[in-house]
Amino acid sequence: MKTLSSTENTLVFEAEMSQYFANAWRRAMISEVPVMAVEEMEIMKNSSSMFDETLANRIGLLPLKTDAKSYNLPERCTCKGEGCAKCEVKLYLKAGKNGMVYAESITSKDPKIVPVYPKTPIVFLNPDHQVELELTARLGKGKRHSKYSAGLVYFKIMPKITIGKVDDVDGVIKACPKGIFKKDGNKLKVDESKLIDCDLCLACSEIDKNITVESQDNKYIFYIESWGQLSPKEIAISALDEIEIKSKEFENAVKAL
Ligand SMILES: [Zn+2]
Repeated sequence: MKTLSSTENTLVFEAEMSQYFANAWRRAMISEVPVMAVEEMEIMKNSSSMFDETLANRIGLLPLKTDAKSYNLPERCTCKGEGCAKCEVKLYLKAGKNGMVYAESITSKDPKIVPVYPKTPIVFLNPDHQVELELTARLGKGKRHSKYSAGLVYFKIMPKITIGKVDDVDGVIKACPKGIFKKDGNKLKVDESKLIDCDLCLACSEIDKNITVESQDNKYIFYIESWGQLSPKEIAISALDEIEIKSKEFENAVKAL
């Protein structure tokens, strides 16, 4: 594996593995990684112009910083999902000031579980409006609800471009929509730093049949964009843990046959 680019919320890397595993891993990252989100909301007061349901939907979709090590998924918790300090955290929102209420106004019993983006607008309050809410956040998986989605993950196959004897060098350079080719003297060359942009459109080989574009066996470029609850690396690792847990369950089921 090799990192191609990395920021706080994104990670692009090259990886060599079977296509089956690459896809299983991608799917696990999208739908199996547990992240925190508000699951229940008790409304003590809501005199804002927003319906209770809309307010609940908005609050549910707020990404919360996730500390997956300190909390259990409700179904895996010792309380068997009834709710305890190991699987849920209480948050509060009390606002009565004229103007926009932002996610930063939410207070949490656990300072590690707070909204990722403090400036997310929630509801606008007129002078006589008030909201007072008690929120319960739990871990959940993206396959159950999109509010539990950890991020966007996709991969593409690493291309392999072979150049034979090419006459119309400028024509090929112009034809490539991604600007992958460059001129080296009079010869056509692939700009290796731009190779990952190739989406196998074959515009180059249409101009000259001596250029072949193939996909490299078992070599992929992964893109992970986190919504902020976990880092991209944490998403990748957590998905592997989930695959391991599933494999163990499978193993036990087979043993019980
Ligand atoms: Zn519990």
